[in-house]
Amino acid sequence: MSNSPLHPSALAPAVQGLPPSATLAINERSHQLQAAGRKIYKFGLGQSPFPVPAPVVAALRAAAPQKDYLPVRGLKPLQEAVAHYLRRQLGIERPAAQVIIGPGSKELMFITQLAYAAELLVPNPSWVSYVPQAKLLGRSFAWLPTQPSDDWKLRAATLDQHCAAAPVRPRLLILNYPNNPTGATYSAIELAEIAAVARRHQVLVLSDEIYGDVDHTGQHVSIATHYPEGTIIATGLSKWCGAGGWRLGLFSLPPELEWLASAIAAVASETFTSVSAPVQHAAITAFNGSPEITAYLDQSRTVLTGLGNYCAGTLRRAGATLPTPAGGFYLFPDFSPLRAKFATRQITNSAQLTEALLNDTGVATLPGSAFGRPGDELTLRLSYVNFDGATALDAVREGAAVDVAFLRRYCADSVAAIHAMADWAARE
Ligand code: PMP
Ligand code: GLU
Repeated sequence: MSNSPLHPSALAPAVQGLPPSATLAINERSHQLQAAGRKIYKFGLGQSPFPVPAPVVAALRAAAPQKDYLPVRGLKPLQEAVAHYLRRQLGIERPAAQVIIGPGSKELMFITQLAYAAELLVPNPSWVSYVPQAKLLGRSFAWLPTQPSDDWKLRAATLDQHCAAAPVRPRLLILNYPNNPTGATYSAIELAEIAAVARRHQVLVLSDEIYGDVDHTGQHVSIATHYPEGTIIATGLSKWCGAGGWRLGLFSLPPELEWLASAIAAVASETFTSVSAPVQHAAITAFNGSPEITAYLDQSRTVLTGLGNYCAGTLRRAGATLPTPAGGFYLFPDFSPLRAKFATRQITNSAQLTEALLNDTGVATLPGSAFGRPGDELTLRLSYVNFDGATALDAVREGAAVDVAFLRRYCADSVAAIHAMADWAARE
């Protein structure tokens, strides 16, 4: 132990040994391997393959001179555009005043966990950052069990059982659909059932709908339809608008939760102040929508549906089990049917699975353990976004059908990666 305070032992206990987030770490590792000359198939980080729609880019260009700090909750016309978007896309009436714009929905989630002293509830598996945020803040958390045969979805009865075991207290359920990592989503009936239990136990629901507009059917439904007074809707520009790096996320709260909106805004005012002014101005164009943006979304979904189904089918034929993709751009194959064969290759857990896959084939993925699954499971997450979304969208716009020939031509690296995985799994 060093005597100097300029030493890692002086780090806060919750941060000591904290590794970088798994999604960002696999991306950096992929870049390093590429720089070292290896062919890497980047199925690791999940980001939209599509360019930001042209009118939104034009709006950002025009907004470059915008230089003032903006109101903490966000630019008023943007809050209004978001309220309009929620009405249009989800049929949900929400006041513009309770829309909060943040530097990514991820940051707003952290601030919410900071502000609301609750036990965090997350279905297992869930996205990589919810639980680390709870740990950073010293919050308790519980992984709620799911079944692969249920497409890893939370059942209302499971939530009920968990909540009934202890008296009512502050609890925060983060429910993400379409889901990262599984690619599955919830039906309106499933959401209604979960909503009824959440209401009964007074659970605050943070509904992470960042992939809502890339639901493959274009028919995304929000749990806020069934539990408006207790649901925060989280979304942003990162996924449907292809603008993860612009860092604009948002929350919409109901009027009943104004006390929480105020608390989140107070923390925001002491931390990030407000999101970049030009990005907020450009986001108005994105959330107001237009026929061009509607067409962009339709075309994006067409490509993602075709490629997702192709990848899922290829993995199933190779022996994995997995949900049929319903939205977003992730698959969560479970290779346990191949456990005996993998054991002869010294692969007995998800970390060994993804390491061996990366070393042998160059396909970068994330182990199921990064999403809360037990380490000895043979699950992994892949993100089928390693293709040039701009040329793929152009082709669809010009009338190309998304068939196998299309995928081989416009999503060649994704097709190569999924076959490399399947062939690798089939090895004796
Ligand atoms: N939720 C899920 C499920 C995600 O995959 C991501 C990753 N971008 C986020 C939230 C955070 O998104 P952002 O901070 O870019 O809004
Ligand atoms: N959400 C993306 C993913 O799951 C990456 C961005 C992030 O984790 O912040 O891969």
